[in-house]
Amino acid sequence: MVNITVDKDFCKGCSLCIVNCPKDVLAVSKERGKAGFLVPEATKPEACSKCKNCEVICPDFAIVVEEG
Ligand code: SF4
Ligand code: SF4
Repeated sequence: MVNITVDKDFCKGCSLCIVNCPKDVLAVSKERGKAGFLVPEATKPEACSKCKNCEVICPDFAIVVEEG
């Protein structure tokens, strides 16, 4: 299992994590973060390979992938 968490206070909705996920785990949610942008969510967490591309690419350190 894996836990993918997005800090809505820091996320600016740039979607870099979504487009750089090789497994299509992430998608834009309907939820707005502190800055007013739609934040990502893990829609297919079971497909996550824990490569951490999303974590590394995020300019705002807003997404974290951890062993569940
Ligand atoms: S760790 Fe890798 S596979 Fe998992 S959500 Fe992030 S980019 Fe996608
Ligand atoms: S890369 Fe970071 S700031 Fe951009 S949408 Fe993903 S979590 Fe939010």
